[in-house]
Amino acid sequence: MRAMLLEAPGKPLRLVDLPVPKPNSEQLLIRVHACAVCRTDLHIVDGELAHPKLPLIPGHQIVGTVEAVGEKVKFFHSNPSSDESVLEGLRVGVPWLGRTCNHCRYCLSGRENLCDRAEFTGYNLDGGYAEYAVADYRYCFEIPPGYPDVQAAPLLCGGLIGYRAYRMTGDAEKIGFYGFGSSAHILIQLARYQGRQIFAFTRSGDIKGQEFARQLGAVWSGSSEELPPEPLDAAIIFAPIGKLIPAALRAVAKGGVVVCAGIHMSDIPSFPYEILWEERILRSVANLTRRDGEEFLALAPKVPIRTQINLFPLSQANEALNALRNGEIEGSAVLFTQEDKQ
Ligand SMILES: [Zn+2]
Ligand SMILES: [Zn+2]
Repeated sequence: MRAMLLEAPGKPLRLVDLPVPKPNSEQLLIRVHACAVCRTDLHIVDGELAHPKLPLIPGHQIVGTVEAVGEKVKFFHSNPSSDESVLEGLRVGVPWLGRTCNHCRYCLSGRENLCDRAEFTGYNLDGGYAEYAVADYRYCFEIPPGYPDVQAAPLLCGGLIGYRAYRMTGDAEKIGFYGFGSSAHILIQLARYQGRQIFAFTRSGDIKGQEFARQLGAVWSGSSEELPPEPLDAAIIFAPIGKLIPAALRAVAKGGVVVCAGIHMSDIPSFPYEILWEERILRSVANLTRRDGEEFLALAPKVPIRTQINLFPLSQANEALNALRNGEIEGSAVLFTQEDKQ
């Protein structure tokens, strides 16, 4: 199979020919049709996240069809009455959470996203920048019908982990999104469906990004250096920039929550206690649970959420990563491996 391989952080990925992986007893062999590109992939490739598996096939927003199953694969977790016979040919998605231990205190208390021994797709496990991938069936999701593969791929992290961050804003009515990329363009659709107001903050001077946010229904958009026209109930920081934390704390009202959705961020500048005072909350969101995924993938077709995608052939993964790095992607970047892009 063709795959894009990370051999050392800081180096471009290399197009290589590898044997098709063999599923172990609990894995599915998946023919990859599409894999969306996440900012986390960029952090891994750039060496900002320590100790990836090397060499590594990145990518953790995989959509494909099941071609073979391991001998212990018994059912599909979202449909426990199914058996292995329904799995072949099924269209599945593989997210960032690749495997958990199922017996640490986090796994046993509904917080498998924090598992002490979790393994992550496209980081500790090979991912989807390839024509085939293997994945533990217990962590895969069924892709809702009605979504072409390339449209569905960004839902698997931009959507799922974005949804976890969004859930942490509780019943906030006015929510600020700092950074308006893949996650934000997905979550604004859910927020509007639920009757909330989104205020979009982008880099100063990013007029196109601010217009894109308004097209998708943001009630206001502007530079992250500005204050919104009215105090917010909550903010989600999608961009990996530490100085957005004091900016967002200044934008939220008393009791408001600021949620950091990314896995990596530049250092946070010091700030006066008074902007945290009055019960403002600052928190991060890490990874996802399978429950987050099931909830979100059930909601997405009801909205219905539509992703705006920028397609790149698999062999142009480096170009896709560079476009994301340079802020040139409106919506989500997606690699495709099938001729028909489906
Ligand atoms: Zn665990
Ligand atoms: Zn991701």
